[in-house]
Amino acid sequence: PLTSNDLIEEHRICVCVRARPLNKKELTMKDLDVITIPSKDVVMVHEPKQKVDLTRYLENQTFRFDYTFDESSTNEMVYRFTAQPLVETIFERGMATCFAYGQTGSGKTHTMGGDFSGKNQDCSKGIYALQRCLSHDKEAKLQEVFDLLNRKTKLRVLEDGKQQVQVVGLHEREVKCTEEVLKLIEIGNSCRTSGQTSANAHSSRSHAVFQIILRRRGKMHGKFSLIDLAGNERGADTSSADRQTRLEGAEINKSLLALKECIRALGRNKPHTPFRASKLTQVLRDSFIGENSRTCMIATISPGMASCENTLNTLRYANRVK
Ligand code: ADP
Ligand code: MG
Repeated sequence: PLTSNDLIEEHRICVCVRARPLNKKELTMKDLDVITIPSKDVVMVHEPKQKVDLTRYLENQTFRFDYTFDESSTNEMVYRFTAQPLVETIFERGMATCFAYGQTGSGKTHTMGGDFSGKNQDCSKGIYALQRCLSHDKEAKLQEVFDLLNRKTKLRVLEDGKQQVQVVGLHEREVKCTEEVLKLIEIGNSCRTSGQTSANAHSSRSHAVFQIILRRRGKMHGKFSLIDLAGNERGADTSSADRQTRLEGAEINKSLLALKECIRALGRNKPHTPFRASKLTQVLRDSFIGENSRTCMIATISPGMASCENTLNTLRYANRVK
């Protein structure tokens, strides 16, 4: 298993993969686990293929990332290698961003700590476990500002002449302790998943953006964005008879492509960041610019053979980002 000595040298973009265990449904259906994580930075997919004579065989595909977490990894462990190293950044006038990317049901919300269903005992130890963030610098007077994409409020994203992006009408709350943050996340999360008439209400069809803004003497000092992205699977959308669902799928796809390009631009120190291509990248614009911006992508994958195609798509996307 990973130890603290394994923490890689600090760099701007860190890309990791986390595989969850087979769930009850997959076990009942006797789905096979096609994922192997042979070492701390390698993931293998044993993709089922069919030969001309129709016999099946498995073709191994190997990917390398900064870290790979197998089914036995805990949220705390994932946190230690992904979000925790970013905490420093916001105390150094920086922009830190952590994304969870993957198919619906692969563990994005579980990893980001937004699962308050009570079904998971260690859910509160997710990436939102921000104790470390709040206790990082005892000297400093910390003010945490909370921002949640509240679907009950319609927000507008505006850009001024200086390319500054503003989300009009966004709620920001000052908080003093971790409990207050967790409470806000719980409120936000139940708002995200509660029943709605709009097709977009379903959590897998929306991106959730949670931001912590550190202010010192009233001025913004650093910002930490934690993002639970919409499910990246396409099949359900393109084959859907429902026009709304199809359109939504296309929009999500567009924003995920824009995100990839923005992170790549950040990693390659390109002067131009194509952030205008989607609302998501517009809102996150200042995460992609500046000397002190760091990003971590956690690609979550389902282990089952039935999810193989989505898993490979997720790994290919993550591979392009790094
Ligand atoms: P997503 O947000 O990607 O759609 P979820 O985080 O809601 O997926 O995960 C789907 C289900 O799988 C949930 O019941 C969750 O608790 C469970 N799960 C996800 N990741 C893990 C994991 N690493 N270990 C155990 N259970 C997990
Ligand atoms: Mg989710």
